[in-house]
Amino acid sequence: MDVTKVIKQHLEMEQSFSGFALKGKAGTTEPRSSEGLGEPQQQQDNHVPSKAEGMADAEKAAKLEKIAGEVHQCRKCGLGSLRTNAVPGEGNPNARIMFVGEGPGADEDAQGRPFVGRAGQLLDKVISAMGLKRSEVFIGNILKCRPPENRDPRADEIINCLPYLQRQIEIINPEIIVAQDAHAAKTLLNTTKPIGQLRGQFHEYYSGLGRPPIKLMATYHTAYLLRNYSQENRRRVWEDMKKVLTELALPIPEHSTG
Ligand code: URA
Repeated sequence: MDVTKVIKQHLEMEQSFSGFALKGKAGTTEPRSSEGLGEPQQQQDNHVPSKAEGMADAEKAAKLEKIAGEVHQCRKCGLGSLRTNAVPGEGNPNARIMFVGEGPGADEDAQGRPFVGRAGQLLDKVISAMGLKRSEVFIGNILKCRPPENRDPRADEIINCLPYLQRQIEIINPEIIVAQDAHAAKTLLNTTKPIGQLRGQFHEYYSGLGRPPIKLMATYHTAYLLRNYSQENRRRVWEDMKKVLTELALPIPEHSTG
């Protein structure tokens, strides 16, 4: 690992990008939380309850707990015996937005929680820049166990693991899924199109017969963004997130991607 590059990126994240530093009403940049993974402070609470009707919050939470229990016991593929912890996903059972990544990395495997490493810290900043809190969204992955050396998921692993995510989506019934990276987008959309063609547009995810499709926004993974930390890439991701906010009729915070 290039330590100098990592430190430089971290400083950039904290200073200019600051996620996507929000500006206050008077045009001044408000201080953002600098406590790493802690909940961002001075946030607007833009949460509007999900439009999903039917299942009560407690019932949704119980069903998600049940899935998490199954994931923790799962041995359907070889990854089950390699993991330290399974990572079922976490968040608001009534979330309007679900962020879906590829699979846990080393930090997630160690803690049993999704997106808690460097890519997760950047995702927290993106969520914060959207005027939202991590606790308002749901964060999950295609794979619930870490592939060795963070290699790409294999087809058999995806086939075995995907039903957990499909059930989570069905229960939460979000209005928008943000697929972070090619694996997540291609798997959920059942397509082989490259991420370059999928990114930046809404697609339709079908969660079951008779259910209306859920809008899916494909964007770059925050891990990709860290590796390719250009202003252009940051701008692209922010443009994608603005489309998500617009679709949900949520205010778009003024920001700077540095
Ligand atoms: N990358 C992912 O795709 N998921 C995580 O949970 C962490 C990093």
